[in-house]
Amino acid sequence: MFRNSTTLAIVLRKVRIGEIHKRLTMLTPEAGMISAMAHGACKIKSRFRTLSEPFGYLRVYLYHDPVKDQYKITDMESIDPFESIRKSIVKIYTASLWAEVVLKAFGGGESSGSLFRLFSSSLKALNESREGKEIMVSIQFLFRFLCLMGFSPVLETCSQCASAFKTNEPSFFSSRDLSFLCSRCARLKSIILPAGGRRYLAKTSTHSLGKALKVGLEDDSVRALKEVLYQLVQGVLEVNLNSIKSGSGIL
Ligand SMILES: [Zn+2]
Repeated sequence: MFRNSTTLAIVLRKVRIGEIHKRLTMLTPEAGMISAMAHGACKIKSRFRTLSEPFGYLRVYLYHDPVKDQYKITDMESIDPFESIRKSIVKIYTASLWAEVVLKAFGGGESSGSLFRLFSSSLKALNESREGKEIMVSIQFLFRFLCLMGFSPVLETCSQCASAFKTNEPSFFSSRDLSFLCSRCARLKSIILPAGGRRYLAKTSTHSLGKALKVGLEDDSVRALKEVLYQLVQGVLEVNLNSIKSGSGIL
């Protein structure tokens, strides 16, 4: 790593250090998740002040101190401030959930480049999304995140008895197994996913994000898919996500 470098970055988290400084945790395409000091970024007149807020899509100029093994931000430029996200409570909670997922997945490890593209394109879609449609972007982000990390659930067959689901047969998601079961193998407290929800995932998984977001889905499937994906992501990451708890009733 050179002492001076530049990279694209999306701010995941900020922590105030002392009176006027900020430490930013950011997702980058090549270096994965990095932490860097933004000196003076809390000063009223600092140019960094609003740029360094969570979900900001930036180009950052970094200095790496080899002795302390720390990054310092020497300059930053906004690529997209995603202003409409900042004006909507639902969008802020949605983006916060994704940022927490990225943080808990340590930036996706070796898949950080793909995760960066997914995160930035999803933020752009969320920024442009109409009111009430935010959940569709979130379903796509969470499902694509699972696929990227190698945890896409099997959609065609029951994970217990391996029988294939019929076209209109609902499936039963078990949070214990983190997989779909048929009605004969279903456990108590399974989430019932209508056949349309399963078909939606299978169909849109090969689409671009933009094309996937044009595919409609019935409300009961949306509600079930949301619950399934929240449980799947938390099960795979082996954590309870704070943003799902604090966003209950909003997300
Ligand atoms: Zn079965």
